[in-house]
Amino acid sequence: MVLKNITRALKNIRKPRVTRMYPEIRSELPERFRGLQKLDKSKCIGCGICANTCPNCAIKIVRARVSKDSTKTRWFPEIDVGHCLFCGLCIDQCPQDALSSSKIYTDGIITWKHEDLLFTPDKLAREEPIDAPEAEQ
Ligand code: SF4
Ligand code: SF4
Repeated sequence: MVLKNITRALKNIRKPRVTRMYPEIRSELPERFRGLQKLDKSKCIGCGICANTCPNCAIKIVRARVSKDSTKTRWFPEIDVGHCLFCGLCIDQCPQDALSSSKIYTDGIITWKHEDLLFTPDKLAREEPIDAPEAEQ
């Protein structure tokens, strides 16, 4: 068995690599890749269609500031990414095109705690940093 594996390794040593050093080298994502959602607060009317459409009940409509510099509040979606299956239905059904899909699939989504996966309207609108939290030891 060992000899067989060594022979196979020697045979393939000159062939081009088929693996990558992830995460330093990342795969190119397809055009229609569905990653972390992005919210455009200026378009959202707080209708709740996205929340009613979600098959996993991952969306709640909550009150949040209209913008980073405003104290005025309105209704916006909040997504529990821990329950999201990235089906994209919320994006497809939004009558205002307020939700879109990004190519983010690691930063802020890989975490040790479920509560870090709660994406508030500010976080979805990228008004708050979404860097991955420190890992717990
Ligand atoms: S994101 Fe779209 S569907 Fe969801 S509450 Fe806002 S306008 Fe309605
Ligand atoms: S992508 Fe699908 S599962 Fe995720 S929040 Fe939208 S509707 Fe729900």
